[in-house]
Amino acid sequence: MKCPECEGKLEVLRLCRKVLLRCGTCRREYQVHEVAGELDRETEELLARYPAIIYD
Ligand SMILES: [Zn+2]
Repeated sequence: MKCPECEGKLEVLRLCRKVLLRCGTCRREYQVHEVAGELDRETEELLARYPAIIYD
């Protein structure tokens, strides 16, 4: 999915206890709940690989 700020590509970034989305262009990081309403199918499938996501 695209970054709301610059329309760069967001990448799923796994941290120890949670997952963030990071823009590969502007490096801004988003928590999943911040963009939950805008997730596209590709990103949802990536996130689905992490069954223990903490959404806040
Ligand atoms: Zn960006």
